[in-house]
Amino acid sequence: MLSPVQRKIIIEKMDIIKVISGYLKLINSELQPRGPINYIGCCPFHHEKTPSFVVMPLKKEYKCFGCSSKGDVIDFIMQIKNINIEKALDEIALEYDVWWSEYNTV
Ligand SMILES: [Zn+2]
Repeated sequence: MLSPVQRKIIIEKMDIIKVISGYLKLINSELQPRGPINYIGCCPFHHEKTPSFVVMPLKKEYKCFGCSSKGDVIDFIMQIKNINIEKALDEIALEYDVWWSEYNTV
C-alpha cells in the first residue's frame, strides 16, 4: 500500500491547481490586496455563493472555510469522485500519468 514517502512523491509531481481547476473555477487571490499567492473558488463540497475554498499551491493543499473539507490532491480526488484511495491512485495514473507503483521505497 501507499507509504507516506510515496504519497509525498505523488503530491509533489501533481499540479494541484491544474487538477482542481478541472472541477471548479479558481481565481488567483494574489489580485486581492495583501492576499497570499493562493487560489480561491466556490467549494465543490458544499453549496455556497461566496468563495471560501482555498488552494495553496506551495503547501499543495486545499481547505474550505465553509465546511471542513481539506487535504492534498489525493484527498481531493477521493472526495470529489467519492472513491477510495486505490481507485484514486488508478485515476491519477491513468488521467495524470503519475504511477505510484514506480516509487517503491525500501
Ligand atoms: Zn466547503
